[in-house]
Amino acid sequence: MNEREKALLAEVETRLFISGEWADSSSGRTFEVRDPSTNEVIAHVADATAEDGVKALDAAAAVQEEWAATPPRVRSDILRRVFDIVRERADDIALLMTLEMGKPLAEAKGEVTYGNEFNRWFSEEAVRISGRYGANPEGTGRIIVSQRPVGPSFFITPWNFPLAMVTRKIAPALAAGCTVVIKPAELTPLTTLFFTRLLVEAGLPAGVVNVVPTSAAASLSAPIIADPRLRKLSFTGSTEVGRKLIAQAADGVLRVSMELGGNAPFVVFEDADLDKAVTGAMLAKFRNIGQACTAANRFIVHESVAEEFANRITERVQKMKIGRGTEEGVEIGPLIDADAVAKAAELVSDATERGATIVAGGEKLDGPGTFYQPTVVTGVRPGSAILREEIFGPVLAIATFSTEDEAVRLANDTEYGLVSYVYTEDLQRGHRMIERLETGMMGLNAGVISNAAAPFGGVKQSGVGREGGAEGIHEYLSTKYTLVPNA
Ligand code: ADP
Repeated sequence: MNEREKALLAEVETRLFISGEWADSSSGRTFEVRDPSTNEVIAHVADATAEDGVKALDAAAAVQEEWAATPPRVRSDILRRVFDIVRERADDIALLMTLEMGKPLAEAKGEVTYGNEFNRWFSEEAVRISGRYGANPEGTGRIIVSQRPVGPSFFITPWNFPLAMVTRKIAPALAAGCTVVIKPAELTPLTTLFFTRLLVEAGLPAGVVNVVPTSAAASLSAPIIADPRLRKLSFTGSTEVGRKLIAQAADGVLRVSMELGGNAPFVVFEDADLDKAVTGAMLAKFRNIGQACTAANRFIVHESVAEEFANRITERVQKMKIGRGTEEGVEIGPLIDADAVAKAAELVSDATERGATIVAGGEKLDGPGTFYQPTVVTGVRPGSAILREEIFGPVLAIATFSTEDEAVRLANDTEYGLVSYVYTEDLQRGHRMIERLETGMMGLNAGVISNAAAPFGGVKQSGVGREGGAEGIHEYLSTKYTLVPNA
């Protein structure tokens, strides 16, 4: 670690944040955070207990009414100040993300821009919450439809986008007038803790946002989810954990938003512009070292262009620079941990055992960091695990098809439905794909789709709810209908 990195880490508050105060865990314990590119311990963070979690909810519940009654313009102004402050501190936040998560610094900077857009977007949405007023059909009364904040909300976030996954939940909640308890991922809590200080700097009142990092996610979360004061659970992470959380949330009939796993098809038709498709594929696959729920998981390429597509991709992949995310020009950082490397290696060996060919990469690198080479496998056969499971690593797997119906069948052949990518120059075909592919989002000749102004979310087992866009704030509002008789 260099001096700048040490100085930045020294600036990060590593305690819990409850009711506007930084505090140690009630157990006095801490847990370690490591840099995945060196396996070096970079911080010790207070390890919240279940008791601390309930205290955080106490704090959120205590100020819920006051925060809901705070004028929308005041809430909006705070979010706008958060946006300005994050912009000023963008380089520090990016470096911190690279240190705790491993992504290349240029990508971390991109995430700060993207993640911060939620603060700006929802500062704008905060003052546009509106309702409806009309006469009932009988003419005997008036129907008033208004929007009320849902209430105290609990957020569980993942490690792969340490800033954006946090702002995407906190900003709409604050805009709507909800108070928050957040449990950041144990692998990357530092960005959330740093961001929390910026919320305070922007003037956020005590108790509105409470932060409880922990190494015991399940035991901290269960009592919060079971508490009758909680109204909303929003989670981003694996489908497996999401299912468990939905079951827990059922007891209290909580509102839930679930951004779960994906298994995105990337379909390249014979009429695609291959330059565009190759550029899009590199982004859709290798952004975040492949560790994104939106990552293209299955490349489904028309048999007439598959070889050329694979050759062009391979040429690009072989030039990719692997290394610590802070190094100039690095495109492939470490995977988050050794399990992630083992998973990528297993999926590749299963695919090759079933007949696929490795045309680039395919090796893990020696430690101490957890690196896996960017890899391309072609001729992936039906039944291979890599077509079924989320890879979450830099492995690009290519299968082929011959007809449009077959492409649609293959693309939809998964329990997931987050995003699909389609490359075609045929306008009518593009429209048919919008209608036929069972995903919540689609990139039509686009390899990156995330945007704060658009509703992000999936269908099928990829989740429920939408984050961002005009829809995003409605996850934190409930509709209230009032009848006012004429006399
Ligand atoms: P990943 O495989 O990407 O780590 P997970 O779904 O395991 O995704 O984790 C996402 C988030 O969910 C993390 O913050 C993690 O601590 C949390 N988490 C994992 N298991 C549970 C659980 N049983 N209850 C509550 N939170 C959990």
